[in-house]
Amino acid sequence: MTGTATAGRAGCRACVEPDNASNQGRQTHVNDDNRPGDFSEPMMYPRYTGIPTFMRTPYAEALDDVDIGLIGVPFDGGVTNRTGARHGPREIRNQSSLMRRVNQATKVAPFDLCRVCDVGDTMIRSPFHLESSLDEIERAFARLHAAGVVPVAAGGDHSVTLPIFRAIAKHRPVGMVHFDAHCDTHDDYLGSKFHHGAPFRRAVEEGLLDPHRTIQIGIRGGVADIDVWKFSHDTGMRVVYMEELFERGWRSVIEEAREVVGDSPTYVSFDVDGLDPVYAPGTGTPEVGGFSTIEAQLMIRALSGLDLVGGDVVEVAPPFDPSGNTALVGATMMFEILCVVAQARAE
Ligand code: MN
Ligand code: MN
Repeated sequence: MTGTATAGRAGCRACVEPDNASNQGRQTHVNDDNRPGDFSEPMMYPRYTGIPTFMRTPYAEALDDVDIGLIGVPFDGGVTNRTGARHGPREIRNQSSLMRRVNQATKVAPFDLCRVCDVGDTMIRSPFHLESSLDEIERAFARLHAAGVVPVAAGGDHSVTLPIFRAIAKHRPVGMVHFDAHCDTHDDYLGSKFHHGAPFRRAVEEGLLDPHRTIQIGIRGGVADIDVWKFSHDTGMRVVYMEELFERGWRSVIEEAREVVGDSPTYVSFDVDGLDPVYAPGTGTPEVGGFSTIEAQLMIRALSGLDLVGGDVVEVAPPFDPSGNTALVGATMMFEILCVVAQARAE
């Protein structure tokens, strides 16, 4: 395995191979004695073979030749109830071998637009210490950011988006299109400021997230306190409860989302519990009555053309996902986000 991406397959704009729209008919890299060859081109292999990187992209340790880094964040120390999202990146990698090269609906071919690599997982050496774990996650994303690599991440619970923002929004706040059943703007819980129900309150307090350029879509479920999402409303976030999405339809809501975030740098955060649990049961905090997978895909695709500076899919919890379907759904949403982020990165 090479340390750096091989530019050809990954679709470096400077050296796109003429035939890389399709792998069909191309030879796999196998030596005479049938050992696997250069694994920097995993898409050359049958889909069920090899080491499962995200979407079978090349694994890259060095970041010199990477435009977009697909990165795992195996941390769920911020979960308030059912743990398991720490196993999300590995299962999303596995299911993501089902992704292909071109988005049939939009014709976007992200691997031709940008050099896309799996840049591994954020190393978390102190998982028993929540705040130092968040620091470690921040450092991993700061390294990507310093190298000009746009992150598309797989969590992990939703607490991981705060350190991502600390890395990529340090010099100016970002806007956000946020898909979730929960606003995640709660306050302290059981003595901790940091947990998966509070990242966006902390992000606003730290000047990383512009609440006036934030829209939260799919909010629902029972609450312990009717004012639980008061912070979102008080700071000017646009909160689209599930009932409004159902009544208005996805297209109208996403048109408003585009107005809310405008032309400035924007992040896409996709909590799989925004989906109805019939589509994504394998998550820590399922809430019935959510949007569907096709609605989610259409909404993400409709973000095309925005100044997207990164995204994530969080809260896939494989221990609650015996069929693997939630991880497949997570991988698919990650691919949809990759497509619109690649369009932005290519411009
Ligand atoms: Mn969330
Ligand atoms: Mn949620």
